[in-house]
Amino acid sequence: MRLLVVEDDRDLNRQLVSALEDAGYAVDKAFDGEEGHFLGDTEPYDGVILDMGLPRIDGIRVLEKWRRDGRRMPVLILTARDRWSEKVQGFDAGADDYVTKPFHMEEVLARLRALLRRAAGHATSELTCGPVLLDTRSSRVVVDGSAVRLTSHEYRLLAYLMHHQGRVVSRTELVEHLYDQDFDRDSNTIEVFVGRLRKKLGVEIIQTVRGLGYIAAPPEPPSKR
Ligand code: CA
Repeated sequence: MRLLVVEDDRDLNRQLVSALEDAGYAVDKAFDGEEGHFLGDTEPYDGVILDMGLPRIDGIRVLEKWRRDGRRMPVLILTARDRWSEKVQGFDAGADDYVTKPFHMEEVLARLRALLRRAAGHATSELTCGPVLLDTRSSRVVVDGSAVRLTSHEYRLLAYLMHHQGRVVSRTELVEHLYDQDFDRDSNTIEVFVGRLRKKLGVEIIQTVRGLGYIAAPPEPPSKR
């Protein structure tokens, strides 16, 4: 999952980015409304954290422009505590949720998880695919009851495929949603990560669809083979 943080307070921006990266997301950042709007308009983010008070273009205008241009990614807005009207304006402009400042990082992370899973059509924070269970709260993966240790890239890949279970996901889409802007994308091919992931999981839940990409689906029962 790849996220965008638009926040002009440098310290807060850094704290958000580092907490999100620790939680296993690929994260891009912007420090004003113009840069933020441009990135959200041109890159395929799975979710955005958008401050309302921003230099150059304010958060409400950024959000309105995205929605007017058909950008539908989930957006969590950051509002000042005493400004109830910002929340109303934010929702009317197309926000999906809000957190008031100052906030606890855990709340931001929990609200984001909820937004991401709802956007993908899931009701709970635990995703399952056959014997594989992925807990988006702890970023832990369990197969048949045993924990599997994954690197952050492997986890991201599995989480993305499991959020979009049953749908073919192209390599291009994976590259766009797993890496941040600054990542050297050429050096790490998706095929290599898929191979490692299959080996670690030990069950066949990631299938290659020749020429199209990959799909996560429960293994077929033996009787159907
Ligand atoms: Ca601000």
